[in-house]
Amino acid sequence: MRQLTVLGSVNADHVVKVDNFPRPGETLHGHNYRVIAGGKGANQAVAASRLGANVNFIASVGDDSFGMRIRKNFEQDGINVEGVMIEENTPTGIAMIQVSASGENSICICAEANACLTPQRVTPHQSKIENADILLLQLEVPIETIEKAAEIATLSGTTVVLNPAPAQALTDHLLALVNIITPNETEAEILTGIKVFDDQSAQQAANVLHGKGIETVLITLGSKGVWLSKGSSGQRIEGYRVQAIDTTAAGDTFNGALLAGLLEDKSLDNSIVFAHAAAALTVMGEGAQSSIPYRNDVEAFLS
Ligand code: ADP
Repeated sequence: MRQLTVLGSVNADHVVKVDNFPRPGETLHGHNYRVIAGGKGANQAVAASRLGANVNFIASVGDDSFGMRIRKNFEQDGINVEGVMIEENTPTGIAMIQVSASGENSICICAEANACLTPQRVTPHQSKIENADILLLQLEVPIETIEKAAEIATLSGTTVVLNPAPAQALTDHLLALVNIITPNETEAEILTGIKVFDDQSAQQAANVLHGKGIETVLITLGSKGVWLSKGSSGQRIEGYRVQAIDTTAAGDTFNGALLAGLLEDKSLDNSIVFAHAAAALTVMGEGAQSSIPYRNDVEAFLS
């Protein structure tokens, strides 16, 4: 069976609802405290596996109770966890998230075990990249590890997919190793300097990324769908209209689902429609991995 290898982050999301964000020096009461499984790498691996892909995950978790539990959860989701390393005397990565009454987020991320995912730690799992059909990367682990993984993949003919999130500028060397890139509007602007606000500006941003050597550019546009460009012209592929409750992990679900579709030989356009459906279901539920749908849910939604 065809293989997807995801290399990326694992986080425990500590979420608390607040009426207003506390100001410096102020103490406020929050409510509805939850610890939710998150991290972009983990979310994308879980999404791809729940949606039918054969997934290897390369990541680092801490030797705390969350790290141990989440590794088991990945296994229960059908993910090969041989590459999920347990770092001694280190906490699992965390995100401290406050959600205000108006739905705004304030987020502080601490890499912790994710920072231990160095190129040297990946070497024993290199064959999982070389033998995969697709390697999926994001930007929540050390950038030198991401570059090393992309180099290994390119040398062995593995397709490199980069979800360049959270937003940051990247070297031309890394971008030249990427086959498919999936920024949202903000990430596309940081990578290209072009503000994406309509179809024309989306294509201009895509052209800059094509100029760096990337064949397929997919800019996600939230509730407006995606802009797909495979050359000098592109097209918008609309998403589904749903009542959004919490958009956390929408992009992660989109990426995992897109590759699950491609790996079972759906066309790129059909994989995007499948990914839109999965991401629409995610925004209808709360949290990150808690809201990522299973294949049956997506098939029922599409029927
Ligand atoms: P990110 O979460 O990385 O910022 P986007 O917000 O662009 O990514 O969303 C990624 C995908 O999730 C979209 O292309 C779409 O399929 C889906 N999506 C996001 N927001 C909504 C929404 N409000 N309604 C329906 N689908 C959505």
